[in-house]
Amino acid sequence: MSRIPLVDLAAQHRSMKQELDAAIARVVERGDFILGREVHEFEQAMASYIGVSHAVGVASGTDALHLALLACGVGEGDEVITTPFTFVATAETISKCGARPVFVDIDPESFNIDPGLIEPAITESTKAIVPVHLFGRAADMGAITDISCRHGLRVIEDCAQTLGAEWQGQKVGSFGKAGCFSFFPSKMLGALGDGGMVVTNDGEVAERVRMLRDHGCKEKYHHVMPGFNSRLDTLQAAVLLAKLSHLNDWIEARRKKARLYAEGLRNIAGVAIPQVPADRSHVFNYYTVRVGKPLDRNALREGLAACGVRTAVYYPLCLHLQPLYEWLGYGAAGFPRSEEAQAQALSLPMYPELPQASIELIARETQRLAQQAAVSYGAL
Ligand SMILES: *Cc1c(COP(=O)(O)O)cnc(C)c1O
Repeated sequence: MSRIPLVDLAAQHRSMKQELDAAIARVVERGDFILGREVHEFEQAMASYIGVSHAVGVASGTDALHLALLACGVGEGDEVITTPFTFVATAETISKCGARPVFVDIDPESFNIDPGLIEPAITESTKAIVPVHLFGRAADMGAITDISCRHGLRVIEDCAQTLGAEWQGQKVGSFGKAGCFSFFPSKMLGALGDGGMVVTNDGEVAERVRMLRDHGCKEKYHHVMPGFNSRLDTLQAAVLLAKLSHLNDWIEARRKKARLYAEGLRNIAGVAIPQVPADRSHVFNYYTVRVGKPLDRNALREGLAACGVRTAVYYPLCLHLQPLYEWLGYGAAGFPRSEEAQAQALSLPMYPELPQASIELIARETQRLAQQAAVSYGAL
């Protein structure tokens, strides 16, 4: 039986083994493991890639969000608007600042926050909006920027899944007060472990994140605020710097796989494939389809698993339904589109080296299961 993984990190690392080994060896040789040479080089390279003035490496995407929120002044008593259809870190970091996450439903087609629903959620206490660019597709930054300007709100972008995507030719992460990236191994640019980054055009925000990541230090052993130990390791920065030069090629490869998926899945009843409007781009960190009648998402998932295809459900439980956020009192049916996405979203294997034959097998098998389902559905 074929085995098709969701992601294949080993394939990427095989393709650049010598580069990786050399990058790691240089750091080990020098020994500047904490805030060493490649941290600065990688920060500069990322700032120029995104098109911003500052980039600050931190220990994870979660810390990038947490430190960016703090640096933007989010604190006790504030409300921060975001979506319930995302990874927990988006809202958890709002809570860790002492603020309250206020959820707004998604646009059913993009899975991203619906800007049309943001304004009714704004109150006297609203301080910021955290749009999530989910699965690799840029959120509607035009509408979100308009709203934030009208109401004097900060925008902190959660770009953990969407490094390299653009809205009207401008890279995500460069629209808000701060943009937050994750280098979790399976993200667009993956470290050999954890890593994250805050990018910004605001020198003061950059300065505050720099202090927060290193015990609130302005200079060594001179502490001006309680901070964290949340630095990006030099070893990880060296790996990420080597990988960054391949990122655009990997994005192109992912887009090619997405086109193959679109061809194979286009005419299957019950499967809705991701769309890419002309004014924004998609980098396909995940290839997430919607599965509806006559198919059933979980049944399709099991059917694919039976032929060795690994898939994932991002996300099986919306944040407003998590025990963590029961106290917010939204309850079931609070966000019908997010709850529908929770029942229908299915992420298929996606990585730059994914063989065309694997995509063809997945499309064939999905087609077969859809036909089977249509027959039994018709018989009911
Ligand atoms: C991965 C992810 C994060 C957190 O990043 P880590 O590096 O794992 O801490 C935050 N938000 C979203 C949407 C993510 O996908």
